[in-house]
Parts: sequence; C-alpha cells; structure tokens
Amino acid sequence: MFHLSANGRLSCLLAGAALFLGACAETPNPTPELTASAPSSQPQQTAPSAAQAQSQVQPAQSFEEWRQRFRLKAVQAGISPGLFDQAFSGVAPDLSVVKADGAQPEFTRPVWEYLDGAISPVRVRKGQALLSEHAATLDAIEQRYGVDRETLVAIWGMESSFGQFMGEQSVIRSLATLAYEGRRPQFAEDQLLAALKILQSGDISVGGLRGSWAGAMGQTQFIPTTYLTHAVDFDGDGRRDIWNSSADALASAAHYLQASGWQKGRAWGIQVALPSGFDYALADSEIRKTYTQWYELGVKGTPTNVDPNDAGYLLLPAGHRGPAFLVFRNFGAILRYNNSSSYALAVGLLGKRLDGGGPLLASWPKDERPLGRSERIELQENLAARGYNPGPADGIIGANTRRAIRAFQQSLSLPADGYPTPLLLQQLR
Ligand code: CA
Repeated sequence: MFHLSANGRLSCLLAGAALFLGACAETPNPTPELTASAPSSQPQQTAPSAAQAQSQVQPAQSFEEWRQRFRLKAVQAGISPGLFDQAFSGVAPDLSVVKADGAQPEFTRPVWEYLDGAISPVRVRKGQALLSEHAATLDAIEQRYGVDRETLVAIWGMESSFGQFMGEQSVIRSLATLAYEGRRPQFAEDQLLAALKILQSGDISVGGLRGSWAGAMGQTQFIPTTYLTHAVDFDGDGRRDIWNSSADALASAAHYLQASGWQKGRAWGIQVALPSGFDYALADSEIRKTYTQWYELGVKGTPTNVDPNDAGYLLLPAGHRGPAFLVFRNFGAILRYNNSSSYALAVGLLGKRLDGGGPLLASWPKDERPLGRSERIELQENLAARGYNPGPADGIIGANTRRAIRAFQQSLSLPADGYPTPLLLQQLR
C-alpha cells in the first residue's frame, strides 16, 4: 500500500509524480506480512534494518536450482505442473526488484508533505466524481460490508490513484526474484505460492497477473495471500478481478476492512486539542482510554460518530508541536491494510475531505525537518550510550526508541512526546 505504491513504486519514481501518488513507496514496510497491500511508503518509519541488510548475501544456489526446488513444493501444495511451467516460462530474476527490496533511503519525507500529496486537490476532485459515478455500487457494498464509501474511495485513491497505477510488473517474476534473493525469502515464497493458486483458480491469466515490484496487485494492491482470503466477485461475472473491475476491487477492500474489525458508522478518529501542561507521555499507541476518559483529561474535539465508551489512543504524527488526533478501532482496521500510521491517517483524512470536510485546524511544524536515516541511527546510539535502551540502532523509530526518547525528554523536563527532532539529537551529542 503506501501503500504509496502506485504501486509501481518504480512508475512513481519515473513519473516524478510522487506528490500525486500518495502511494509511491519510499521505503519497504517492515511488516508486510500483516498487511493487505504492498510495502508502502512510510514517511516516519523507514528502511530495512542494518541487520537485515547484512543478512542479504549472495544466494548459494542458482535461480534454476531454486526454481526446481520450489516447483516440487508448489506441486505438493496442489499446483498443477503444467500451470507452474506456463507461469514460469521465460522467468528470470528481475534486478530492479532486488534493488527496490534492498533500498535504504537516507531521507524521509515529512508527514505533512506526504499528506499533502495523498490529499491533493486533484485527488479529492477525482474521488468525489467517482463517488457519484459509482454511487449504486457503493450503496450495495456499504449494505453488505458496513464500510463507508468515503473510506473505500480514499483507499482506492491511495493504493492505485483509483486504478490508474497498479504496477506493470509480472507478479510471478517479482515474487520469484524475492523468494530467490530477497530479504524475506519465506514471505515471498508464500506469496508466490498464493499467486500460483490465483492463476489456478482462473480468476486472471498469467499475462494479467501484474503488480508492483513487491507483488501488490490491482486497484486495491492486495498481496496474493490477502487476495486469496478476501478478494470477492462483486459484479457477478464469476471472477474476482481486482485489476479490471472497480466493483470487485472496492468490495474486496470493504471485505478486508470488515474482517479487520471495522465498526459500521463509527469515526476512525477525530482531530483534538490538548490542554496546556498536558502530559505528552500519554500520546502512545499502547495507552488506550475511552473518549470520556480523554475528555476528562482535557482532550477536546468534536466527537462526531464517536461513542463515549469508544477506546482510542492519541496520535501526534509530528510531535507535540503538530496536530493531535484521537484514533479508534477503525483506524486500527486501516492499519491492518497498511501498517503505517501516516498511511492510515492519510486514508482517514482523505475520506473526511471526500465527505466535504475542511482542512486541519492545527498547523504542522514545517520548520522542523525529519531526521535522516543516519541521524536516527546516531540518535539511537546516543540513547543507548546513556543507558536508555532504544533497541537496535537500525534507524527505525519503534516503540522502544520512542520510550527511550521520552525518558531522555523527561530527564530534561521537555514535553515527552517521544518524537525525534534535530534539536533532540543535538542535545544528545
Ligand atoms: Ca467479477
């Protein structure tokens, strides 16, 4: 997804259209296994870890040897030998896929730039036109799955710019490359086997099985295993065609969100204002409280479609100087689609805009650039040297690093938002 994959991340880069394609991936998603769609762009959380990079060694076997072994496994798993040979006819490793898989970008796009691209006026206008064009289909999908149309159209826009950029690479070739010499060979092999099962089901032809370098497919950018479990034939032609049928694609996305715990009629989240003197250490995805409890702590917003007993957590995408959101269970369902809070926020805000909502009330700290990868590693090394246990120095700001940052901020009586900034790095040096 990011989920930023026009899902041909490569086409994103080539087109230089990153601002329009919220989905142009900048960095591989560290946990694609959990998500429906491809590795996506994550403005904050980035790049494979150093350990992962080191483990990337030259394959010990030739591609042909790998293919023979995998063929045995596939046939044992029920793939017909004839289909396997047809799907693998002429398939050789794709160097562009290896390169994309190993990329560790130094620079991180600020979350506000990512959101500006994801929620561009062009995309909002196109999305609104599609909402009315597909009104009858969306009515039927809402009826069956209980997921609102604005969220579905927002995902459609984020994943493939409404079906315009689905990725043109052979899914079999990309996944075979990743299974042979990628960073997560077992994951890729599972996806490859699922892709062969899709071909065997007759839903799509070998030539039609196209997607991003990471194997994310169609208008929803489903990875093959998600396709097998959640793609649906909604237009009734007997085939689950997320490439060529918008109805199938939108309903498949709705089915996936429903299965991920979507609550009908509830808000994914709301923008909130925090009182002065607020304890920013409470803004942590592991600290969940009901809307009423947050309200009693002085957290104020407009609780449209929020039940007082809905549990949620505070999200500060750019630290204490930027906008604050209280996010609920439906935000978690979007995260299942693509495990990046920037992605989920983009979907939520785009959906709100499609529904006629206005821009954010608070402003972003645009004078503050995000730390680059080597700076994040340095930050982690400095935190470790001071005994704060940020976890491995991999440049990924995860829960342990945030906790360590908070502890360091508290030691200086700074707002403990756990957000890394150039100033914070300076203070650590
Ligand atoms: Ca169909």
